[in-house]
This record gives sequence, C-alpha cells and structure tokens, in this order.
Amino acid sequence: MKLQLLNAGWFTCPYGLMRQGESFEEPFRFPVSAFLIETGGQRILVDTGLNPAAIADPGGFYGQPEAMGLFGFEQERSVADQVDLETLTMVVLTHLHWDHVGGLPQVPASVPVVVQRREWEAGHDPEQVQSNFFMPRDYERERELLLVDGDHDLLGDGTVELLSTPGHTPGHQSVRVGEVVIGADVGHFAASFEDHRFPAFAADHEAQARSAQRLYELREGGLTVLPGHDPELMHPGVLTS
Ligand SMILES: [Zn+2]
Repeated sequence: MKLQLLNAGWFTCPYGLMRQGESFEEPFRFPVSAFLIETGGQRILVDTGLNPAAIADPGGFYGQPEAMGLFGFEQERSVADQVDLETLTMVVLTHLHWDHVGGLPQVPASVPVVVQRREWEAGHDPEQVQSNFFMPRDYERERELLLVDGDHDLLGDGTVELLSTPGHTPGHQSVRVGEVVIGADVGHFAASFEDHRFPAFAADHEAQARSAQRLYELREGGLTVLPGHDPELMHPGVLTS
C-alpha cells in the first residue's frame, strides 16, 4: 500500500484565526495537502486541495468578498496536475471546507465521493453552510456518493479506515491508512492534539477536543498522526510504500 502526500496549494490568513493565542495581526502561510492511496486496484484521493479557479481572487470566485477577503491563495500545482483524476476509484473528503474540497470540480462525476452523511447534510443546510463557512460551489455538482455514518472500514480488509472525528465541522472524519492517520483539521498543528489551541471557529469545540484526544491516543499507541496544516510536517512525497 502506497501513501503519497501532495501539496495542493497554500493559504495565508491571520495566524490567530487558525490557532488560539496567536496574533490576529500576524499573517501565517498554511500548506494545503491532498493524499493519494494506492492499494490493489484502488487509487483513492483523500481531499482535493484548493480550487485552481479561485486562486487569483478567492473572495470574488466564491462571491464572499468579506469572509474570503481574509485569505490569500497560492497554488503551484493542482491535484489534476499531479494525479490522473480519470483513473481514481474513489475520493474521500475529510470535510467540506474549501481547502479540502476545492479540487473536486476537476474530478469526473462518475468517481464515487465518500463523505460522512452528517457532513454532507450540513453542507446542504443553509444555516450550517453559513455557520461552518462552507462554499457549496465546490461540491454542488451532481455526483456518485457514498455517505457513511461513523467509523467505516473502507475496503473491507482493514487497510483503510475512516474515523469519525467531528468538531471542526459537524461530520469531520480522519483516515487511517495502515500505520498512518490523516488527521486533517482535527488539529492544524502537531501540537494541537495536546494543546487544543484550535482555530477560533468550529462547529463544536468540545467535540473537537474529544476527537483530538482520540487521535492523541492513537499517536501514543504508535501510529503516525498527521495534522492538517503544519508547515513543519506537511512535505510532499511518499509516506509509505
Ligand atoms: Zn483545512
């Protein structure tokens, strides 16, 4: 089983927005990651990075100049520049934020998208769209869907397991690939699993703390747990082969 980390862009925003206790005056540049899992006949993309069409003007692209005006986007290569998206067997979305779902419009509609049912429903509820800063433009196209409820053995052989880790968003999930856990935004930084200095916003900070504790315990148990946006750790390359 091969697991690869891809860089799918960068966003810059006030540091304090993404890490409690830091300054809102200081900008911070966050890497945006996607992952490719290859095992047996499967080619599974986990998250899709930033939308290439949104790079130049995120506020204008999403029609949200106020919220998105806080963010600068950069992208050297989209997921489409790095992976033949036609050959994917599945896309797993950890959650529906624009830095994880932005590349989805590039993926053929016939490739099944796997997401927690709770997240998908929140992403189609106007109130929750607003409170969670979802940008439905990235996931509004009709697609093949696999909606799951809670933990889920994705391939039925224990190799790839979806872990329910809600809090950052209503139906956030992490993905265990062998000995590696793609934690996504349960914690933006490696330290977040202990210090719980989460972003200023969340669907439910208490649930996020419980999810962080869950992943912390997996890390203590010997698994490698990857945070969502830690520039010290999220380097592109093959993680396991
Ligand atoms: Zn994120």
